Amino acid sequence: MTGERSSFDVVIIGGAMIGSAVAWWLARDRDFDGSILVIERDPSFEFASTSHTNSCIRMQFGTKINVAISRFGLEFIGSFREFAGEDAPEIHLDDFGYLYLARDEPAADRLRTAQALQARMGAGTKLLSSGQLRAAFPFMRFDDVILGSHNPGEEGCFDGGTMFSEFRRRARKMGVEEARAEATGLRMAGGRVTHVELSDGSSVACGHVVNAAGPRAATVAAMAGIVLPVEPRKRYTFIFEAEDKLPRRLPLTVDPCGIHYRTDGGLYMAGCPPETDGPCDAEDFEMDHAIWEERVWPALAERIPAFERIRLRNSWVGHYAYNTLDQNALLGLHPGCDNLLFANGFSGHGLQQAPAVGRGIAEHIIHGGWRSLDLSPLSVARLVEGAPLTEAAVI
Ligand SMILES: Cc1cc2nc3c(=O)[nH]c(=O)nc-3n(C[C@H](O)[C@H](O)[C@H](O)COP(=O)(O)OP(=O)(O)OC[C@H]3O[C@@H](n4cnc5c(N)ncnc54)[C@H](O)[C@@H]3O)c2cc1C
Repeated sequence: MTGERSSFDVVIIGGAMIGSAVAWWLARDRDFDGSILVIERDPSFEFASTSHTNSCIRMQFGTKINVAISRFGLEFIGSFREFAGEDAPEIHLDDFGYLYLARDEPAADRLRTAQALQARMGAGTKLLSSGQLRAAFPFMRFDDVILGSHNPGEEGCFDGGTMFSEFRRRARKMGVEEARAEATGLRMAGGRVTHVELSDGSSVACGHVVNAAGPRAATVAAMAGIVLPVEPRKRYTFIFEAEDKLPRRLPLTVDPCGIHYRTDGGLYMAGCPPETDGPCDAEDFEMDHAIWEERVWPALAERIPAFERIRLRNSWVGHYAYNTLDQNALLGLHPGCDNLLFANGFSGHGLQQAPAVGRGIAEHIIHGGWRSLDLSPLSVARLVEGAPLTEAAVI
């Protein structure tokens, strides 16, 4: 299954965006000369969150750590070739910005507080009154809106697919090995994982293990006797064409009615959770076709009258790895195991966090702690302390 070797310094379970980012950052680090194995149950990635993502990055978070992660993500996207090499492609960012809308004072206050935090951290998010919103986006109705916030230039859709394939390709070139298998068990001794057991009956000995199993992360954690509050949750995405194109790019609008929508090249994209949000089976990707007709389209047309005349072109279901504690990433070592590192629970913002998290987990393995960016506010240890990191701006 894994070629000649039966022992690796680092074994990564899950080879999509997060697993590949960790592998790449580790392999390129001059302070690391160990062996790395990535175990992936489905190398087509057909059902991975990474393949169903909307691939956007935003500065508009409400916690310092998430803004700091995004600041690095933006730098990484803009300077990808400096990090990856002269022969690497540029990573394109369609910087239409996110547009958050508030229709009551508590929501407006959250936007003001978040904007002030973002400004302190160097982000150019602007608050817009309802008059300013009307002037900037005359094709939208804002009768129910009292404040908005927008950050064009630093937010939008980035080419996460290219970033992911470059992580993988370059990691392989630097000697990272891949195994097509499912990790089915973790053999434990003395509070450490000694071996990862694979679906073909073989096992590999390991120094460190990284849980990068996305929506299936709780299953991997349970193999070490750890309860991880991460579950698969469905998210719907719809691609549509408008008969009358809007006069400017539509920002990723986070509508208080619970859906979001944006420009998608020459088309448009909308997304939403199911009517009743909750855990789903990891194999369940069934679409609820009524939701487009009954909920999404009416809400779009309500905000943007030109969207009365639209045609649905494509739709899909993806899974968030939904962290039920606080919808934020769960990172690093859990007190229950000395050598199992977590990189899970990203909910709706894992793709943009992959550069910072991949680097962080790699440095943690090499140096025994966070280095370039202190990711401790997102430590998985907060589960034990029962201390959620509440993020007001979740999608
Ligand atoms: C509809 C939708 C829209 C999104 N939009 C955005 C966005 O705009 N911006 C953003 O930043 N994020 C977004 N996200 C979130 C983002 O896509 C995810 O956080 C990110 O892709 C997570 O990557 P991952 O590698 O952790 O998980 P995944 O991509 O799910 O990969 C996990 C991998 O682990 C493998 N695996 C699982 N268990 C095992 C096992 N036991 N053995 C071996 N392999 C295993 C799986 O096969 C899979 O390939 C969105 C997600 C969805 C669903």
